[in-house]
Amino acid sequence: MNDMYDSKWLERAIANLQNLFPFITVNSIGSSILGKPIHEIKVGQGSRKIHMNASFHANEWITTVTLMNHLYKYLYSLSTGTLIRELNPHSIYKNTELSIVPMVNPDGVDLFFHGPPIELADEFFNMNIDKTDYIHWKANIRGIDLNKQFPANWNILKNNVPKFPGPRDYPGSSPLTEPESMAMADLARNCSFDFLFAFHTQGEEFYWGYEGFEPQESVEMAKRLEMASGYRAVQYVDSHGGFKDWFIQEFKRPAFTIELGRGINPLPMSQFNEILIKSEGIFFTALTF
Ligand SMILES: [Zn+2]
Repeated sequence: MNDMYDSKWLERAIANLQNLFPFITVNSIGSSILGKPIHEIKVGQGSRKIHMNASFHANEWITTVTLMNHLYKYLYSLSTGTLIRELNPHSIYKNTELSIVPMVNPDGVDLFFHGPPIELADEFFNMNIDKTDYIHWKANIRGIDLNKQFPANWNILKNNVPKFPGPRDYPGSSPLTEPESMAMADLARNCSFDFLFAFHTQGEEFYWGYEGFEPQESVEMAKRLEMASGYRAVQYVDSHGGFKDWFIQEFKRPAFTIELGRGINPLPMSQFNEILIKSEGIFFTALTF
């Protein structure tokens, strides 16, 4: 693969944004198992608190590239004063505070692109079911699926998934054992987001309910997101322990898992433009809720 959208790419992309748009703030909400920072970018001065994240899953790194591109477009229009989708970026800036964690799982994304660190190679060879490439890897570097780590019917979830660490779906020995999932839970607890979006691939649809805990306003939001993107709104899927599941259950506020693109993960960059066009409606509609 020629282009590496790994954690180093993200570091450079963030540094670029800071350079071009010094009105953003960047901080680290925690560190991965291998000590890489988990960055949060914040924009805006409003009371409406919105959160978005990407790359909970390693081989869904295209979500990071997508989110960073939408963010760039927002920041560019802020600095030039141009309207985006007929929206005034300055009123968005005044009304909202946008929090973005563009890469929840930097170790996993780096594993996808580069393979394991040399000192962990043997361990990984076994964990990856004797395969030497990592294109199907979703988990963090310990083989734990970060989006099955949240205390939302975790005891039901754990019966129907792998019992050992591996490329995907192993939820750990209990909820919130991993620094990456803990950092996200702490962020949600401390920041009191009004609503949030978790970007995954794939399916061109999004999930907006969890066990009836979703508030009434989610219905209207889902309709607007569907119209803005052409993605299909799905209220319930048979899954537990996800970040959005937990957020809805815990705070009774709207949350959405957005499944970008269509095909088999990892989605190729040849699909990137189409993903960008369709998901732009979701990104900017979210800023007007
Ligand atoms: Zn995913």
